[in-house]
Amino acid sequence: MTDLPYQIAAVLRKSRNVLIACHVAPDGDCLGSALGLRLALARIGVDAQVGSADGVPDAFLRLPGAADVMSAPPATRAEVAVAVECSMPDRAGSFAQALADAKTLINIDHHLSNAGYGHLVYWDTAAATGEQMADVIAALRVPIDREIAECLLTAVVTDTGSFRHRNTTARSLRLAADLVDAGASVHAIVERVYETRSAGGLRLLGMALASLTLGADGRIVWTTVPPEMLISAGAQPEEVTGIVGMLRQIRGVQVALLFEVTPQGVRVGIRSRDGARSHVIAEAFGGGGHQEAAGFTATGPLDKVIAATLAEAEKELRQAGRTSAPFRP
Ligand code: 5GP
Ligand code: MN
Repeated sequence: MTDLPYQIAAVLRKSRNVLIACHVAPDGDCLGSALGLRLALARIGVDAQVGSADGVPDAFLRLPGAADVMSAPPATRAEVAVAVECSMPDRAGSFAQALADAKTLINIDHHLSNAGYGHLVYWDTAAATGEQMADVIAALRVPIDREIAECLLTAVVTDTGSFRHRNTTARSLRLAADLVDAGASVHAIVERVYETRSAGGLRLLGMALASLTLGADGRIVWTTVPPEMLISAGAQPEEVTGIVGMLRQIRGVQVALLFEVTPQGVRVGIRSRDGARSHVIAEAFGGGGHQEAAGFTATGPLDKVIAATLAEAEKELRQAGRTSAPFRP
C-alpha cells in the first residue's frame, strides 16, 4: 500500500464536514466506494455526506445510506471534499463547484484518464475504486462491518463484472473474500444488479441488439438507442447500461459502440478487447475511462457522431494491430 491512504485518513480524521462526490450516471463502484467511506467516517464520528448529481439507480437503492444521498450540492462550503472516480472535477456534474470550493480536495480514482487534480491524489491500477477505499478505511482503522462490506463488495463486483473482466486481480479476490467474511454476499449483489431487469429494460435490450451493425470486417459493432426506442420499449434511460458489453460478445469484435441520444447530447459507450483501447477512442472526444471500457458525450447530429467515432475506432484498430500493448486496468 502507498502512504496515500494514510495521508487521506489523517486529513479525514481531523475534518468536521466532508462531502463525498460521485460522478454523473454513478455506477456501483462509485456509489459503493462513496457510501462505504461515509459509513466508515460515521463510525469515528466524522460527519460526511454523499452527493450524486444523478441520484441513485434502482439497482443500488438498497445499499446502506443510499436514501441519504444528496442530489443537489450543499449550501455551505465543505471543509474536505472527496471526488470519487471523477477523472476531472466536472465529471461530478452539479457537484463540480462544491469540489473546487472545498478547503481540501481529495481525488481518488483508478481511471487511466485521471487529470491528477486536487491536494491529495490517490490513483492506482485497482480493478475498482472500492479496493482503494478499502485501503483508506483500513488506514482510518475502522473495522469492516457488514454494512461497509456490502458497499465495498458492490464496488468490486460491479467493476469486475462479477469477477469476469480482465481487470480482476488477486487483490480484488482477496478483498472480496474479506468482505464476504464480514457478512456481505456476492449472490445478493449479482441478483440485484445483473439478474433483475424490468420488462421494458429487457425489451430495450432486444431492440438495441436486433438493430446492431457490423463494420471493419466484423471488428467493430455499433447500435443506436434513440429516445423513441426507450419509449416503445417502456424502458428508463438507466436501463441502457450493460447493453454495449453484450455487443462485444460477438466473435471477432474488438470494439463495441452504443450511441444513446439524450437531451445532453449523444452518449457514447465503448467496450473493447484484444488490444484495442477504449479510453483512447473516448479521449479523442474529451471523454475517458479504462482500456476495455470508456465513454464520452458528444454534441452534434447523430450521424456525424457515429461517423467520427467509427473513424477513431478504425484508427485505434490499426494501432492495436501494430503494437501489442500490455493490458492496463
Ligand atoms: P459506461 O459506458 O459504463 O458509462 O462507462 C464506462 C467507463 O468509462 C466507466 O469507467 C466510466 O466512468 C467511464 N466514462 C464513461 N463516460 C465517460 C465520460 O464522459 N468521461 C470520462 N472521463 N469517463 C467516462
Ligand atoms: Mn470504477
